[in-house]
Amino acid sequence: MSRILHRSIGPVLPHAASAQGVYITDSNGKRYLDGSGGAAVTSVGHGHPEVLTAMREQMDTLCYAHTAFFTTDAAEALAERLVDLAPEGLDYVYLVSGGSEAVEAALKLARQYFCEAGEPQRRHIIARRQSYHGNTLGALATGGNAMRRAQFQPLLPETHHVSPCYAYREQAPTETSEAYAARLADELEAKILALGPENVMAFVAEPVVGATLGAVASVGDYFKRVRHICDRYGVLLILDEVMCGMGRTGSLFACTQDGVTPDILTIAKGLGGGYQPIGAVMLSEKIYTRFAEGSKLFQHGHTYLGHPLAAAAANKVVEIIARPETLANVNAMGERLQRGLEAALMDSPYVGDIRGRGLFRGIELVADKHTREPFDPARKLYARIKRQAMARGLISYPMGGTLDGTRGDHVLLAPPYIITADE
Ligand code: PLP
Repeated sequence: MSRILHRSIGPVLPHAASAQGVYITDSNGKRYLDGSGGAAVTSVGHGHPEVLTAMREQMDTLCYAHTAFFTTDAAEALAERLVDLAPEGLDYVYLVSGGSEAVEAALKLARQYFCEAGEPQRRHIIARRQSYHGNTLGALATGGNAMRRAQFQPLLPETHHVSPCYAYREQAPTETSEAYAARLADELEAKILALGPENVMAFVAEPVVGATLGAVASVGDYFKRVRHICDRYGVLLILDEVMCGMGRTGSLFACTQDGVTPDILTIAKGLGGGYQPIGAVMLSEKIYTRFAEGSKLFQHGHTYLGHPLAAAAANKVVEIIARPETLANVNAMGERLQRGLEAALMDSPYVGDIRGRGLFRGIELVADKHTREPFDPARKLYARIKRQAMARGLISYPMGGTLDGTRGDHVLLAPPYIITADE
């Protein structure tokens, strides 16, 4: 009997015993292809010798020093590497221990930035419906997933939501991608105007939506329009690349594919690659300078932020991801996966859409291919898919549809970047 409060109480989980490359082996010797990298976490594969060596070297020298007293070579080196590799305009790094922490820190950075700037009335956060930004209260409030929020609603700070860029379901048949992107940008602008631009702090979005929609990228010049509107009203643009960043979509930073740089960017998951819990917030010089010339104190912090072992692991993980051959493999294998899925599944009456970028692919399942009507979520199709795939030795990341039918069940595939054609 397990003494752990597991996410789901009931099903007996296999014990993961070892892992190498793209495979995890359980204590009965059964091997699973890590087809979703857990939840898009495993980036450079399991047991990568270079990461393990970097971690051992760090362990032999220093495992912890509180960041109120010290900085460390490991944390400084990671920050330096991230800034070197990031699009121009992301000049500083705040290190945390995961994705939700990164989002919380991003929101508080934005809020304190405006307090320091003499605009304390700026407090509204606008995000998108059907989004996920983490499970802590601020991040949960930002996310627009009604099901995840429902019972915690009384605890959540006020946030505002606009439509996601979800062409499969929400772009009209007669509408071009550009017209659809323009319609969504207009909706964002109308929301900012309704709240009073002087009261709006930030707009938060994932460049490619992961957990809630299943690898849905924007269309047209959506993000360029969003950037333009944020600039027009002095609203900070926060892009959440916790899931889609760090090479997952075929470039180290997903936003470069959309031709925009945010004021604040969050990363996690693939950054630690599963070796250590780590996340980061990257921010512009403009925001840093406001703090440096103002209170000189970001009023936020966690005991384990900037952990040297986590930083050493992540520094090596990022070095490996940034190698041209790694990203080339993400793109080549991503294309192969897309073509393979289309060839194998697109004729099925229950597969509505197959999409994504790089090694971040989603399959949306529908009860009726022509009307795009989703399956009844009460059937819990996603749970059955997960079980059946695991029985056949495949880890996938399926998610249920919404009660209001605004999206269907989907399966997310996000294998490690080192996967080969045979695997
Ligand atoms: N933001 C996005 C876009 C995510 O997909 C997730 C996790 O799935 C988070 C934030 C939260 O990250 P974590 O689970 O590491 O707290």
